Amino acid sequence: MKIKGVEVFGDISNSLKQKILKAYNLNKDFFSKSINIEILFVKTDVEFRNELKRICGKAEREPWVVGHASGKKIVIFYPECFNKVSNHSEEEFDFVLAHEISHCFLSEYFRHKNLLFWFVEGLPNYIASNKLPKKKTGKSPKFSKIITPKDFKAAGNPYRQSGYFVAFLVEKYGKEKVLQLLIKLRDTTESFSDLFEQVYELNLKKAEQDFIKRHK
Ligand SMILES: [Zn+2]
Repeated sequence: MKIKGVEVFGDISNSLKQKILKAYNLNKDFFSKSINIEILFVKTDVEFRNELKRICGKAEREPWVVGHASGKKIVIFYPECFNKVSNHSEEEFDFVLAHEISHCFLSEYFRHKNLLFWFVEGLPNYIASNKLPKKKTGKSPKFSKIITPKDFKAAGNPYRQSGYFVAFLVEKYGKEKVLQLLIKLRDTTESFSDLFEQVYELNLKKAEQDFIKRHK
């Protein structure tokens, strides 16, 4: 079934269709563009890992993972399966789907080797949360040190704090700066930190300090 730019595989109820549209539109509005993506719905861990192997070559799933994006393809559990296969509840489905769709939009920029991993996870979390959080963040990781997925894991998978940091940047400097940064990331090979400084006229460490101060 095709819903706008989304090719969907699975049995799709009307309410699920609405959820897909909402998650897609959230991203379309943020990025101000449309892309074609595929979403595969699964019910069991075995199905999930089979599809995962097909889209990205690895067949492992951490017990908390309920969705995964690779390029423009997503594999995700049906909402009603979330609490059977993980500690996530069905209510988290909309957030997870919007987060994975953001990864598909971001895949346009993944050619850049220096895309920092806190940004790779923080931007989808910000877009999926669909609001600017005002809450305290808890202890903030050193974002400038989170470069690879391994660094991200070592920092305790700080999805939430990364999302808050992106929210802080959008709130303070506007969405356009994020889009400018993405375009620069796509078109040049300079480091993320250098490009960040060019776009924000501020170095990443200073931005990080401002964020920590603001959210204490
Ligand atoms: Zn993610």
